[in-house]
Amino acid sequence: MKQKKFYLAEQDLPKQWYNILADMPNKPLPPLNPTTREPLSVEDLTRIFNHECAKQELDTEHKWIDIPEEVQEKYTFYRSTPLVRAYALEKALGTKAHIYFKNESVNPLGSHKVNSAIPQCYYCKQEGDTNVTTETGAGQWGAALSYAARLYGLEAAVYQVKLTMQQKPYRSMIMRTFGATVEGSPSMSTRAGKNIITRDPRHTGSLGTAISEAIELATTTPGCKYTLGSVLNHVTLHQTIIGLEAEKQMEMAGEYPDKVIACFGGGSNFGGLAFPFMRHVFDGTHPNTEFIAAEPQSCPKLTRGKFEYDFADEAGYTPLLPMYTLGHDFKPANIHAGGLRYHGAGTLVSQLIKDGHMHGVDIAQLEAFNAGLLFAQAEGIIPAPESCHAIAATIREAKKADEEGSAPVLLFCLSGHGLIDMPSYDSFISGDLQNYSLSDEDIKENLTKVPHVDIP
Ligand SMILES: *Cc1c(COP(=O)(O)O)cnc(C)c1O
Repeated sequence: MKQKKFYLAEQDLPKQWYNILADMPNKPLPPLNPTTREPLSVEDLTRIFNHECAKQELDTEHKWIDIPEEVQEKYTFYRSTPLVRAYALEKALGTKAHIYFKNESVNPLGSHKVNSAIPQCYYCKQEGDTNVTTETGAGQWGAALSYAARLYGLEAAVYQVKLTMQQKPYRSMIMRTFGATVEGSPSMSTRAGKNIITRDPRHTGSLGTAISEAIELATTTPGCKYTLGSVLNHVTLHQTIIGLEAEKQMEMAGEYPDKVIACFGGGSNFGGLAFPFMRHVFDGTHPNTEFIAAEPQSCPKLTRGKFEYDFADEAGYTPLLPMYTLGHDFKPANIHAGGLRYHGAGTLVSQLIKDGHMHGVDIAQLEAFNAGLLFAQAEGIIPAPESCHAIAATIREAKKADEEGSAPVLLFCLSGHGLIDMPSYDSFISGDLQNYSLSDEDIKENLTKVPHVDIP
């Protein structure tokens, strides 16, 4: 019988994360203070983040960073995650390509986000913090953080966009089950929230309102740190556990990927899978691997955005980051892949795309759900709407290869399952979903609002 799944024994799990920042031939530009436009120091970042993550964010020296033993132990609760050969999907497609996926949906929270939530909470605990806070849109990050905070006895306060809290009630229930406080944003518990409600009592919230509230809580509460689930370098660093495991598992399968594919919101699951393989492009052992980031057609920062310094949040509170962006107050269409509705791309991936090492592709909403449905019916796993974009990009590559008469090895990240997103599938099956595309004018118009810092 052909082997379907590849697991690592617990003692073979990676003991270090891979810090691509130390390895990049062309380092990204530094994050800037939005007022002075000076590069930020670790101390600046420590105002809102824990010290260790602030250090990791700017670390251009250490190629390998030790995973603390207590984090390794928590990783064993659900790692290794399986590397799976998608024989059934291959058969359904009639393709000669070999398709593998790294299944990050098998942990207690159902997405890859917990890989970074655990170390972030661990460092807060080590440094004597008692509370953590964050914002969440669709709720995957809030759920992961609530669980990780509980593991280390921290209090978690999550600001969830009011509208999605109503649309996706199960994720708030999960957060409360792990003991977190969940507030619909805008809330009356912060000055920022009160101001918004006073201006507009029926405001249904946005990631911008939720970020403002979480940052206010972190800066006004002693022992409370702010955390983020994507975009930043340290988050993607933690996610390299995905690619480092996958590298060993591909070896067990006796293959090496020709193309590495993942969906793209801020870049953490894509970078997490891709960076360990990218290091073999840098060291020349596998120079021809292709890296494909699948973004939604309705939020095309990688393919149609501009490389500029921009804010990481809608409200303009965060440092300025050099990245591909559609403009920080870009309002993407209300597609069902909530985790991909983000205006910018993390700094590391942005630089690597700029330098021609990786590239993005745009996937329309209906193509994504068609791919997700095919995958579910073949492999028996209902993918998160975000992950459907990676599946669609993989299917495109398989079809292209069949036309060309080649049989490449394709590896994609199944970043999460869709079991809490069933209303999205229901709408798709009922024919109620549509595609959204943007005109060049829309994109140009929105880009006029970035701060326009000169790039050397
Ligand atoms: C949050 C999320 C994403 C997008 O975030 P990245 O940082 O780009 O990985 C993708 N898939 C799932 C399941 C998510 O929860």
